[in-house]
Amino acid sequence: MNNQPLGGNELARFSGLQTFMRLPAQEGPEGLDVSILGIPMDIGTSWRSGTRFGPKQIREQSAMIRPYNLQTGAAPFDSLNVGDIGDVPINTFSLEKSLSIITNYYDELLKFQTIPVALGGDHSLTLPILRSVAKKHGPVALVHVDAHADVNEHMFEEQETHGTVFRRGYEDGCLQADKVFQIGLRGTGYGADDFTEAADWGFHQHLAPDLWHKSLTPLAFEIRSKIGDAPVYISYDIDSLDPAFAPGTGTPEIGGLTSMQAMELIRGMRGLNIVGCDLVEVSPPYDTSGNTALTAANLVYEMLCVLPGVSYR
Ligand code: MN
Ligand code: MN
Repeated sequence: MNNQPLGGNELARFSGLQTFMRLPAQEGPEGLDVSILGIPMDIGTSWRSGTRFGPKQIREQSAMIRPYNLQTGAAPFDSLNVGDIGDVPINTFSLEKSLSIITNYYDELLKFQTIPVALGGDHSLTLPILRSVAKKHGPVALVHVDAHADVNEHMFEEQETHGTVFRRGYEDGCLQADKVFQIGLRGTGYGADDFTEAADWGFHQHLAPDLWHKSLTPLAFEIRSKIGDAPVYISYDIDSLDPAFAPGTGTPEIGGLTSMQAMELIRGMRGLNIVGCDLVEVSPPYDTSGNTALTAANLVYEMLCVLPGVSYR
């Protein structure tokens, strides 16, 4: 019998320990097909902070999510053993040390046959994850949903921040550059070629205005066919959504995706060889209604629903 989320008829949904979807808390990944973990940090951010509280708030808002996806038929807990293994013990006084702690943590985690799903935390956490994932799987395809390309050369002379992740990941050979898809990019830049240099590396970039008013299902299917059976990592920055849907984030940009487009995009990833994912940049201090964390929790659930091995009813 796989782990099951604790039901609302067994213990009121507002009771009990705060794990993701009220799944059992586990010491480690032993026996888990999917390991959910928090990376509570915000020392890689450049504007508003607060994402250190993201994992806690996403877990809290996940308490109302029920196990079956009534819209897609996915029944992730029928076929997969999923557990919440707690938080990575980052060093909140040192970004550099925190990033190496994350790589070491993932190196140990990935000795097991488990798919890690990280709750952020600011986006700088994805680089150390990619380094570890590439050690195991080789360079991976990437679905990166974000308002920002996060391909700066440096920020304030720092090489590793939440805005430099995918340039470093590319330089370090963690990515199959021609299978990198950046979706939802928009906003203002420092130069006209802020995005286009990464396009020259092979990154496929889909700007938000080109996606306005459209279903993202066709784009998802196109991405799926281009990635094929390559191992793929999904990195979901909540600021890809319009601030109307997700105001609680550090670097909001207007004119973003809708919640419905986010769901279409993730649902279209079904069938890919997903080897890990994250949901980053939820900042609870700017999330007065809780809607940002609620949306994040549901998008993490949608990602669970398309992992390899999920059964459908
Ligand atoms: Mn980002
Ligand atoms: Mn962003």
